[in-house]
Amino acid sequence: MNKNLHLNIYCFFSVFFLLVSCSNKNTEKSSDSHDKLFETYKANFILELWEINPDWATNIGYHEFDDVLLVPNETQLRTELSFALRHLDSLKLYNLDQLSDNNKTDFYLIKNQLELTQFYNQSLKSYEWDPTYYNIGGTFAYILGENYAPLEKRITNFFKKMERIPAYYAAAKKNIINPSPLHTQLAIEQMEAGLPIFEKDLKDSLKNVQLPDDLKNEILKRSKISVDSIKGFIQFLKKQDKSKGRDFRLGKELYAKKFAYEIQSQYTPDQIYDSAVARKAFLHQEMEKIATQLWPKYMKGVEQPTDKLVLIKRLIDTLSLQHTKADSFKISIQQQLPQLTEFINRKNLLYLDPKKPLEVRDEPGYMAGVAGASMSSPGPYETNGKAYYNVGTLEGWSKEDAESYLREYNNYILQILNIHEALPGHYVQLVYSNKSPSLIKSILQNNTMIEGWAVYSELMMMENGYGNPDPNASTTTPEFWLMYYKWNLRSTCNTILDIGVHTREMSKEEAMDLLTRQAFQQKSEAEGKWHRVQVTNVQLTSYYTGFKEIMDLRTLWQQKQGKNYTLKAFNEKFLSYGSAPVKYIKELMLK
Ligand code: ZN
Ligand code: ZN
Repeated sequence: MNKNLHLNIYCFFSVFFLLVSCSNKNTEKSSDSHDKLFETYKANFILELWEINPDWATNIGYHEFDDVLLVPNETQLRTELSFALRHLDSLKLYNLDQLSDNNKTDFYLIKNQLELTQFYNQSLKSYEWDPTYYNIGGTFAYILGENYAPLEKRITNFFKKMERIPAYYAAAKKNIINPSPLHTQLAIEQMEAGLPIFEKDLKDSLKNVQLPDDLKNEILKRSKISVDSIKGFIQFLKKQDKSKGRDFRLGKELYAKKFAYEIQSQYTPDQIYDSAVARKAFLHQEMEKIATQLWPKYMKGVEQPTDKLVLIKRLIDTLSLQHTKADSFKISIQQQLPQLTEFINRKNLLYLDPKKPLEVRDEPGYMAGVAGASMSSPGPYETNGKAYYNVGTLEGWSKEDAESYLREYNNYILQILNIHEALPGHYVQLVYSNKSPSLIKSILQNNTMIEGWAVYSELMMMENGYGNPDPNASTTTPEFWLMYYKWNLRSTCNTILDIGVHTREMSKEEAMDLLTRQAFQQKSEAEGKWHRVQVTNVQLTSYYTGFKEIMDLRTLWQQKQGKNYTLKAFNEKFLSYGSAPVKYIKELMLK
């Protein structure tokens, strides 16, 4: 799945208060120069954004602030808030009507980011109740492990960044109030797992660099102090009263706000919840029809179960036995890619740039053990960055694990995965978004649009007959529909689960029933999802919400175009706006 760092990494404190002038009074009338002024504003905004979020900057590939660790004390909280308010003020100087479409969506994304910052700072306050907020290991590991600059330089930055770790954890202890026991436990685990970065990895790296011995000793001394501070914070967390503490459930009010800023949908969580519940009912109904139709073909002479969910599961289990072998797993993924390209071209679904073929590579070492396929897209600051389709192998897997995995990613689902990740899913979306380059959109990209497009593209391929051996067929086979619906149930039920758990007191029993019996998932997968929904919130709804919004927009666009409607024009037009929230693309497309 597409990894979107800005959803995962929020740093809201700052030491620096940069006085870049962002309030150039604009008196120009022409929209061209209005755009120019806004371009200057954007460049200043990004610079300040990194200054106030150095960890985010490091992780996205901007390395000017690698040596900075911001201490999360009250002063920084105020600095952070004033950053948001000051920029919200600056934005008022720009007249949306005079901006290009590309700048309009950039404007919306910046405004949303500032409001989100304000929301975290004043309402959500996860720095009080979610101790995973203070897990700094990831950025240190990135600086040490990623080969973007000479090791000497990276270690020097690592050393400088360590300096304020004791102050950092002193402030963290002051901030913590009534932490959620579940997040406290997770923070303890994460921080204990991060200790080897300071205790071992740093030492190992020092052996490979040419630095004065005095400095090396200073570095080791400081790493010892850092480890003591981190361990001190872990002890502090272990002493928290686990019988009390904030509920891991976000609650209706906070959830609605977080959903508004992170998903940026035209719908509320309640509307999306109702829509997902209706989608689930529709999927079950369609699956029952298909399963009944297919039963005699696959289950000749076997009595048909009366419970529709049992009936559907029996057919899914049977079709899942059609899978590739462990040693041909990789090659079967690779072989599908030209077939997908050929299909998209033959059906005229959208223009694929032949000069930008998808580059397939073996899964790099650091991803080892993650079988399947995934997209890696270059970060906004990687000048020679390329997108890759990473394909893993099942080498070294136990026979049982491999068999279970191969059944999950059977001949049907494996193709849907390729559609989602590559063609015409994430990869194609990326190629289109690069045609209207925007640093703002590659930094603040809307994940709901990106995942929504990938999920939408799966259905679009099925509707047009993908997987049907008859080249003239206008839709795919019943078998493929059944397996597609099972796949689609996953994102549908993720949405019901997330909103259910965080705003409707859904219990673990209800959650497990939803995932295993109603969505046909393995128990281990469902257990993993239950853990994820307790320690995260909102993100799980992005797939279905984006999908629904794009489907709704397509219907409206089709009505507007009437006889002139073509699917190809819709797809290309939609993608031409880049990774902006669907509601704003809708506004621009329907105007
Ligand atoms: Zn995805
Ligand atoms: Zn098998």
